[in-house]
Amino acid sequence: MARAQLQSFIRSADDNSSRITPSACRHVWNDAQKADSALQDRFYDSTVEKYALQEVEALSLQQMLEFGRAALFDSTKVLASARHVQKELPKRLARRLMDLQFLPYIVVTNPYIKRVYNAYHHAFNTLRQMPEVQTREDNEQLTSVLQRLVDEHAPMLDALAAGFKECKLKPIVGPKLQLDGFLDGMLRSRISRRIMAEQHICLAARRPGFIGIICADLSLPDAVHFAAQRTKQICTETFGAAPDVIISSSGAQAVKMPYIPTHLDYMLFELFKNSMRAVVDSCGSRRHLPAIHVTICPAPNSVTLRISDQGGGIPEDSLEQVFHYGYTTVDDGELSSQGQDEGAVWAQMAERAASPGGPWRMGGLGFGLPLSRLYARYFGGDLRLVSMPGYGVDAYLSIQYLEGRWEESRVEPQADP
Ligand code: ADP
Ligand code: MG
Repeated sequence: MARAQLQSFIRSADDNSSRITPSACRHVWNDAQKADSALQDRFYDSTVEKYALQEVEALSLQQMLEFGRAALFDSTKVLASARHVQKELPKRLARRLMDLQFLPYIVVTNPYIKRVYNAYHHAFNTLRQMPEVQTREDNEQLTSVLQRLVDEHAPMLDALAAGFKECKLKPIVGPKLQLDGFLDGMLRSRISRRIMAEQHICLAARRPGFIGIICADLSLPDAVHFAAQRTKQICTETFGAAPDVIISSSGAQAVKMPYIPTHLDYMLFELFKNSMRAVVDSCGSRRHLPAIHVTICPAPNSVTLRISDQGGGIPEDSLEQVFHYGYTTVDDGELSSQGQDEGAVWAQMAERAASPGGPWRMGGLGFGLPLSRLYARYFGGDLRLVSMPGYGVDAYLSIQYLEGRWEESRVEPQADP
């Protein structure tokens, strides 16, 4: 009875919007509890529900910057930041745990997804059980726990992608599985949790030119050059060749702006991987690979980067699909958790992550474009593709100047950050 109720709730959430509100959760969960006590195991943990229902307190980037600057001179601000992080992260993790709980059974029992769930649950319990930070020593302890959790959670993105990729292949649920909204919510929340944790970790580090994780004067040509070189290396290891990248800026001065370097690097890396793979694929055994051209164009409130390749383009009927999570044209037959337990699957994941040059490193999970667009939009920018089938693709990545413009330009201000 309870399961049927839960399933119909999940189905309607899948049909309408996969973001599940806490009040809807509470309603279904209460009914389910009454009818089926067997569900009261760790998976449907009422502590998680309690935290998930609490209001989250959003801190804008502007506030984070002001806080970061003040923390340079006033150490009590660092302790206040610690308490904010300590209070907010468990609530946000609890919401995501509930989102995961209400996914179809076939998804939550997937070994990759179970691993993600367990990691979130562990982080939730670790953080909520720590005593409130009062002293510098308490803060040092919190910071080292945050650093450990950030490191441990780094492979979760691939695990989430691999898990959903497998679930999409299951014929029973395949057509009904609407994951884009769910994953947007899940990953947007992941971005904010990481910003919050890393910003706090970096407050103490006081790197010159940085306020926490934000680089005050990030040089875009340098960032593009760095990402291009890294991708070229992986592309060469994988396919034996890689196209050159030619960077030009419109305007005389070096383009610099405040931004989070790891975010920009993620987006550029994904775009370069796609372009380089397309160029190598489309050129076959031809020796000369046409270069990828990057143009950096600053405007008063934003900067646009155009990445142009001659990799043959995207067919018109596929262009709409490339921003769906999991859409890929990379044939990655090896990925399978079938018949394996969670430990074995994780070992396989770790091995894949550690093996340089494996074909999947250039793509195959179908998360590169949707997640890059999410990163860009998170701070009010965007990512668009223009394809010329038979010739190549122009990717337009626009990024906004962060300071002071974040709140007004956010795409979904009401979304739980
Ligand atoms: P993945 O790289 O894992 O396949 P992405 O989200 O990065 O996932 O890209 C999805 C798909 O979009 C790719 O598999 C490819 O078919 C297509 N695509 C993206 N960028 C390009 C490009 N520059 N040229 C040709 N096809 C592209
Ligand atoms: Mg890709």
